[in-house]
Amino acid sequence: MAKKITLLGSTGSIGTQSLDVARMHGYEIFGLAANRQVAVLERQIAEFHPRYVAVVDPAAYAALDAALSGTANPPKLLKGPEGLRALAAMDGPDIVLNAVVGVAGLPASLAAIESGHDLALANKESLVTGGHLVTDAVKKQGVKLLPVDSEHSAIFQCLQDTNAAKTLEKILLTASGGPFFGLKADALAGKKKEDALKHPNWSMGAKITIDSASLMNKGLELIEAVWLFGLPPEKIQIVVQRESVIHSAVQFADHSVIAQMGVPDMRIPIQYALTWPERLPSPAPELDFAALHSLSFDVADEETFRCLAACKKAITKGGLGPCAGNGANEEAVRLFLEDKIGFLDIGRLVEGVVDADSYGGSYTLADVYACDAMARSYVRNHI
Ligand code: MG
Repeated sequence: MAKKITLLGSTGSIGTQSLDVARMHGYEIFGLAANRQVAVLERQIAEFHPRYVAVVDPAAYAALDAALSGTANPPKLLKGPEGLRALAAMDGPDIVLNAVVGVAGLPASLAAIESGHDLALANKESLVTGGHLVTDAVKKQGVKLLPVDSEHSAIFQCLQDTNAAKTLEKILLTASGGPFFGLKADALAGKKKEDALKHPNWSMGAKITIDSASLMNKGLELIEAVWLFGLPPEKIQIVVQRESVIHSAVQFADHSVIAQMGVPDMRIPIQYALTWPERLPSPAPELDFAALHSLSFDVADEETFRCLAACKKAITKGGLGPCAGNGANEEAVRLFLEDKIGFLDIGRLVEGVVDADSYGGSYTLADVYACDAMARSYVRNHI
């Protein structure tokens, strides 16, 4: 029987690469969800014939509804954030893959888990903003949480030896360093979105590419790793690996280090999340060691890249600290992409909001929304 998948965030970079994997293995697509890219959704519907499609943006929903009228066997359409959540919860798929961008992905992750679905998670913000809500729900439901983020997939792959995993001592979370590696504040001050959008190794969406340039992405990933693997932040070391060939590594009690390697191609970690614990042939190319020649390593410059320092402070504070930092970053990146703030302002604003409160203690989903709104308004008031 072909595996059935609901794919949330189907028109983005992870979404389209997930459909490459689904196409190769003949997976059935039960549901698709996207924000507003109607033309891409139309092509995906024509190829994969999902039974349900959720569109978050109301104008895009209306446009898709009109475009599908008169076509044979159109999918049932669902509208808005409520439609996204309803689709995530719906019975039918074997697994839900959440590739929504930003905190908007959290309610969908919770809906999928609470309905008893295994969740392949590409939306790191689910764990960053609602870490204990997500992990508590996973425990309560007894479902699997499978990381899609390349670094976390690498760590997960390195921990498949369950006896060794019991002695996990340290995580070596690799970072490419992004397009601004080695630069100091004076050189970064004038950087524009065109400069930040040039990632050396990975082809990704705009938001995550800016986050890679600011090292916010690595800060978010550090928080994600704390929740996924249960180590405190001080046991997670950021290692700059410029070629993006070592996707992360783990160190055990005997100081043996196991790393996962491969070409920088998201279809490998996407596929592993969908096929785990099996491995299947991949559309991604082989890693060619002869062409590689060498691998280089360095340390991350937290003094310059304040987003990374702010994320460490945020997860150490706990509670809603990471949610505040993430909300500030989402708003700051939006303003940076509109040329309304400078590159260094992103780190200043994220650190500012993290420093502004103690944030500790437990929280509800409503608290997450309130904290996210507070962080966004903090940014608008401090530019
Ligand atoms: Mg990553």
